[in-house]
Amino acid sequence: MLDLLRGRADTAQIIKKKRGATAYQAPLFFHPPGHHYPPRLRKPTMQPSHYLKSYSSKDSPDQLLLFSTKKASVILLDKETFQAMQEGTLSPSDEATLEKVGMIVPDRDREKQAMLAFLDDKNPQNRMLNVIAVLNLDCNFACPYCFEEGVKGNLYMMEATASRLLAFIRDKWRDHKDKLIIDFYGGEPLLSLDLIQSISKAAKSFAESRGAVYSFTLVTNGSLFTGKVADALVPLGLKSVKITLDGPAEIHNQYRPFKSGAGSFDTIIKNIKAACDRAKIGIGGNFTRDNYKKFALLLDYLQDAGLTPDKLSSVKFDAVVNRPKNDAAPGDYAGGCISINEPWLLEAEAFLREEILKRGYKTSKPIPMACMVETTDSYVVNYDGVLYKCPAFIGKKGFAVGDLESGVGDYSETLKLGIYKNRDCAECVYLPLCFGGCRYMAYVRDGNINKLDCKKEYFDAALETLLKQDIRYRFQK
Ligand code: SF4
Ligand code: SF4
Repeated sequence: MLDLLRGRADTAQIIKKKRGATAYQAPLFFHPPGHHYPPRLRKPTMQPSHYLKSYSSKDSPDQLLLFSTKKASVILLDKETFQAMQEGTLSPSDEATLEKVGMIVPDRDREKQAMLAFLDDKNPQNRMLNVIAVLNLDCNFACPYCFEEGVKGNLYMMEATASRLLAFIRDKWRDHKDKLIIDFYGGEPLLSLDLIQSISKAAKSFAESRGAVYSFTLVTNGSLFTGKVADALVPLGLKSVKITLDGPAEIHNQYRPFKSGAGSFDTIIKNIKAACDRAKIGIGGNFTRDNYKKFALLLDYLQDAGLTPDKLSSVKFDAVVNRPKNDAAPGDYAGGCISINEPWLLEAEAFLREEILKRGYKTSKPIPMACMVETTDSYVVNYDGVLYKCPAFIGKKGFAVGDLESGVGDYSETLKLGIYKNRDCAECVYLPLCFGGCRYMAYVRDGNINKLDCKKEYFDAALETLLKQDIRYRFQK
C-alpha cells in the first residue's frame, strides 16, 4: 500500500492547552477558559470534521485525544474547547489552528464528497512514477513459507526484458513528474546485482535528463547485502533497504535457513552492522501467534549488538499470512500493507509496537493510505515482463494488467477500482485510512476481490491503542 499523502504524514502534532508545567513540548495554542467568541461576532460556523475520532484518557480526565483520519493529526484538547468546537463558538486563534490540522471544516458534506473523489483528483497530479521490479524468483534461502509447491526457482529477468522495462518507464513518464522510484524485489534481488546496477544506471540517467530524481529500494533477505555491495549501490541511487529477521536467532534460523540448512541470522547481522552507516536499513519480520512474544528478544539483541535506533530507519513486524496454495507472490511482501483482522493480532500488534517504540525505534503509524491498485502510476513488473498492480497478485490468474510488450490494459473491472465508492464507505470515518482495504486479503479470504476488506472492526479496536502509544513514546519525549 502506498502512502498517497506522502509528506502529510508528518503533520501529526500534539496540541495541548497549557495548565502550568506540562510534559508536552511546544503547545501550539493557549486558550483561556471562557473566552469564546460572542455569538454575534461569529464567522460562518465551522463544523467538526467527519474524519474525527475522539478518545478519553484515564490519565487526563479533563482532556480528549482527537485524531483526524484525514490528516493524521493528533490533538489533546480540554473538554471545554471541545464543546466550543461542537457548538461553533471557538476563538479565532483556536479555530484557525483546528482548521489547519483538519479537525474542523466549513462543510462536512462537501468534505465527504471530496474524500470520495480524492484519489481520482490526486492520481493525475502524482509527481512520482513507481515501479516494483521483481528481478527473479530464485533465492539462496529455503524458507518454508515461501518455497512451497515448487512455484519458485531458477527464473530470472533477462536483459531484453530489462530494456523493455526502461522503455515502459520512458513511455509512462509525464512532464510534471519529478521522482522515479524502483523497488527491487525477488526471490532475492541481490542474486541479480548486475541487473540492479544496469537498470539503475539507465534509470538515473533518464530521470536526470528530465530534471527528476531517481532512487531505488531493495527488499532483501540481507545475506548478500555486504558493506561492499552498499558502497556500490548508494551512488546509483539506493535509498533504503528492507531486511527481514523472523525473530531471535533460534526462531529466525528455523524459518529462514540457507538452502544448505545452515542458519542465516549471524550473516545478516554482520551485514547490517557493516552497511547501516552507508544506507538506510529498515527491519521487517514475520511473526506467528505462537512466537510473537519472542520478538522482544530480537529487539534486545539488536540493541546489544549496537544496532540502536539511530542505526536503523524503522522496525516493523507483520503476521505471517496464510497464503493460498501455489502462491508465487514474493514471500517478503507479507510485510507490505496487508493487514489481517483477527482478534489475537490486536494483542500481538499492540505488544510488538509497544516493545519497538519503548526501545526508541521508529515504526509505522496510522496514516492515510490506499491500495496500490488505486494509484495510477504504480506498477509491478514480474521477471518475465508481465505487469501487475500489486506484488501479492503475481502469478494469480486474472490479475495481470498487461505486459511490457503490449502495455497496460483496462483493469478497472478485474481489480474493482473504486470499490470504496459505496454508501458504507462514504459514511465511514476510517475511509482515508482504508479506501476499501486490501484486495489481496479479500482474495485470500473469499477467493475473489468482489467484496471490501473492511477494517472497521480493526480500527475500532486498535486505533486508540496505537495513538496512545504514539503519544507516550513519540510526543512526550
Ligand atoms: S492488494 Fe493489498 S497488499 Fe496489494 S497493494 Fe493493495 S493493499 Fe497492498
Ligand atoms: S471498507 Fe470498511 S473500514 Fe474501509 S472505508 Fe469501507 S466501511 Fe470503512
